[in-house]
Amino acid sequence: MVNSTNIETPRIGVYICHCGVNIAATVNVKEVVEFVKELPCVVIARDYQYMCSDPGQELIKSDIKEHGLNRVVVASCSPRMHEPTFRNTCEDADLNPYCFEMANIREQCAWVHSGEGATEKAKDLLASAVAKAAFLEPLARKKVAVIPRALVIGGGVAGIYAALEIADKGFETYLVEKEPSIGGRMAQLDKTFPTLDCSACILTPKMVEVERHKNIQLFTYSEVKEVDGYIGNYKVKIRKRPRYVDEDKCTGCGECANACLLRGRIPSEFDAGLGSRSAIYVPFPQAVPLVYNIDANSCIYITKGKCGKYPACKEACPADAIDFEQKEEEIEVEVGTIVVATGYELLDPAGKPEYGYKYDEVITGLEFERLSVASGPTGGKIIINGKEPKEVVFLCCVGSRSHEKGEHEYCSRVCCMYTAKQAHLVREKIHDASVKVIYTDVRAYGKGFEEFYNRVKEEGVEYIRKELEDEIELIKRSEEDENVVVRMISEGNAIEIEADLVVLANAIVPGKDADELAKLLKITRSADGFFLEAHPKLRPLDTFTDGIFIAGCCQSPKDIPDSVAQAVGAAIKASIPLMMGEVEIEPLVASINEDVCVGCRTCEEICPFGALSLEAGVMSVNEVVCKGCGACGAACPSGAISIIHFKDEQIFAQMEAMV
Ligand code: FAD
Ligand code: SF4
Ligand code: SF4
Ligand code: SF4
Repeated sequence: MVNSTNIETPRIGVYICHCGVNIAATVNVKEVVEFVKELPCVVIARDYQYMCSDPGQELIKSDIKEHGLNRVVVASCSPRMHEPTFRNTCEDADLNPYCFEMANIREQCAWVHSGEGATEKAKDLLASAVAKAAFLEPLARKKVAVIPRALVIGGGVAGIYAALEIADKGFETYLVEKEPSIGGRMAQLDKTFPTLDCSACILTPKMVEVERHKNIQLFTYSEVKEVDGYIGNYKVKIRKRPRYVDEDKCTGCGECANACLLRGRIPSEFDAGLGSRSAIYVPFPQAVPLVYNIDANSCIYITKGKCGKYPACKEACPADAIDFEQKEEEIEVEVGTIVVATGYELLDPAGKPEYGYKYDEVITGLEFERLSVASGPTGGKIIINGKEPKEVVFLCCVGSRSHEKGEHEYCSRVCCMYTAKQAHLVREKIHDASVKVIYTDVRAYGKGFEEFYNRVKEEGVEYIRKELEDEIELIKRSEEDENVVVRMISEGNAIEIEADLVVLANAIVPGKDADELAKLLKITRSADGFFLEAHPKLRPLDTFTDGIFIAGCCQSPKDIPDSVAQAVGAAIKASIPLMMGEVEIEPLVASINEDVCVGCRTCEEICPFGALSLEAGVMSVNEVVCKGCGACGAACPSGAISIIHFKDEQIFAQMEAMV
C-alpha cells in the first residue's frame, strides 16, 4: 500500500544514468550533473553507470533517508522501461512512489542526437523534470475486487487451451464460439507439420475435455455483443443464435439430416466447399457439442415458410429435439478477465484473377487439407477432374509479402511449412506425381522445420525460386483443357509449367469482424489489422486494456505450437487477477472541477474508454475505467478537467523550465 507523505518544501534528488555508453557516449553526463546541482530545490545530483542496477537503486534509497529527499528525479531511458522500477525504489525507502519523475535522455535524446546539442537537450529535459517534481503530490492507489470468472472468445486451438488452462486453475470460464462447434481451423487440417501428427487426433481429445470440464460453460453459435466495465468487473452480453434444435435433447444421431429435402445440396463450409451437407447438419462428426443445427439461411421452411418435406425432418428426430420456434437468446455474464482468441481468415484468391482460382484445377491450401484428410469428402484421395493429378504445383506467398494494393506486406508465416507438408502428402499418396514448389524464400524457422524441408526435397519435391517482383499468371491454353499453365515472368524471360493441380498458399488475414470486436473490447489493432499487443517484445500477451489478453492468430499469423504457447501464457496472465482477488488501479486519472463543468458532455463523447458520465448535471469519472490518456482534458471547452499527476501547474512549470 502506498504511504501518503506530507510534503512541504521540495527536497529533490536527481540521478543521471550513463546506461553504459548508450547515453554517456553522446551526452556529457558530468556537465549535466553540474548544471542540475544549480537548479532550484535540488539537494543532491549524482551520476551512475546503471541507475536501474541494485547498487544504483541502493544509492537512491540511502540518499532519500540520509538527505531527507521528498522528490526523486531519474534521467535515463523511457518511462515505459523503468518507471515502475524507480517508483518501487522510492516506495522501499518510504517515499510515495508518485513523488518520482523521470526524464528520458536515452530514446528522446542520446539515441536521436549527436554532438553538443545532445548535452544541451539533456539539460533542458532535466530542468523540465525537476520543475515538475517540485509540484508532485503523493497519491494513493485504489484496489478493486475481481470477479473470479473469465471469458474466452473464440474456440480454436488457442481458445481451447486458454479456457482449459484457466478452468484447471479452478475458475469458472465461459468459452464463446461463433460457429456451431469449437475446433477452429485446426479441426479442418489433415496432418500437421513438421511431425505429421493427425490434426484431429490431437485436437479432439482437448475439445472433449472442454465439453466435460466442470468449470467451463460453452456457448457455441454465439457471439459477444456488448462489453462494459473494467479489469476485475466486466459485464458481457452474449448473443446465442437459435439452432432450432434443443441442445439438451439432441443426441447427434443425424436422422433429421437424412430426412432433409436439401440433403447433400448445401456446400459444406467445414469441407471448404468441396463437400456438401443438409440444411440441418453438424459441421463434422467429432463436433463439440455434437448437436445438430439448422442453417436458417438455407432451410426452406425458415426462409420461405413452407417446405415439401416439412414436417418430415422434425418427425424424423427420435428425441423430438427440433424446435422451429426457438428464438435468439441474450445471456449476461460477469467476468474479471477476458482472453481473445478469434483466429484468422484466409485471403480469397478470387479477388486476384492472375492466380486462376476460377479453374477447377486451382485450389487453396485449406481446400487441399480437406481433399487430403481421410475424413474429408474424397476419403483422403487427392482427386481433381475425377483423377489423381500427376503434375502438381504449389504457389507460395499468394497475397503475402507484397506492397501491391489488396495484398499484405507481412509474411503469413505458416504457408512455407504447410506447403512443404502438402508437397510431402502428394508424394506419399501419388508416388509418380511430379511436385514443384514455386517460392520466394523458404521460411523454415521453427523447431524441426529446416529438417522437414530438407526431407521433402530429398523425397523429390522440386523447389523453383522466384523473386517477389516476378510476375505470375495462371492460364489455360483452351477452356476444355484439364491442365493449367503457370507462367512466371522473370526479367523479361517467361517460364511455363504445365500442371493438373495448382495449390495456392493464400495469405492469412485478420478475422472479418476484427474491427467490430476491437471496438467492443476497446482494444487496438496494428496496421496489418491483427490485434495489437501492448509491447511487441515485453508484453506480447497483453492489450492496452487492462484485463484483456490476446492469443493465437488473432494477434498475428502463427502455427499451432506458437498459438498454444501464447494461449497458455495469456490464460495464466488472465488467471493472476482472479487468484489475487483484487487489483490495484493507477491513480493517474481525470479529475473534474464540478464548479467549472457545465455538463456539455463533449468529454463523454471523446473518451475512448467510456470513463465519463453525467451525474446531477456535472461529469463524473469512473476512476477504474479511466486510463488518464488526457483526451477529455484537451477537449473540455470549460477547462474543467485536469489529469492527476499532469495538472496544469505541473505542465506549465515543465514548459517554463524548458523554454
Ligand atoms: P483459429 O483456428 O482460426 O480459431 C479461431 C476460432 O475463433 C474459430 O473457431 C472461429 O470460429 C472463432 N471466432 C472467430 N471470431 C469469433 C468471434 N467474434 N466470436 C466468437 N468466436 C469467434 N499450423 C501448424 O502448426 N501445422 C500445420 O500443419 C498447419 N497447417 C495449416 C494449413 C493451412 C492450409 C492453414 C491455413 C493453416 C495451417 N496451420 C498449421 C496454422 C493453424 O491453422 C493455426 O496455427 C491455428 O489454427 C491457429 O489457431 P487459433 O485458435 O488462433 O485460430
Ligand atoms: Fe430441411 Fe426443410 Fe426441414 Fe429445413 S424444413 S431442415 S429445409 S427439411
Ligand atoms: Fe510466403 Fe512462406 Fe511467408 Fe507464406 S510463410 S508468406 S509462403 S514466405
Ligand atoms: Fe477518458 Fe482519457 Fe479522460 Fe480518462 S483521461 S476520462 S480515459 S478521455
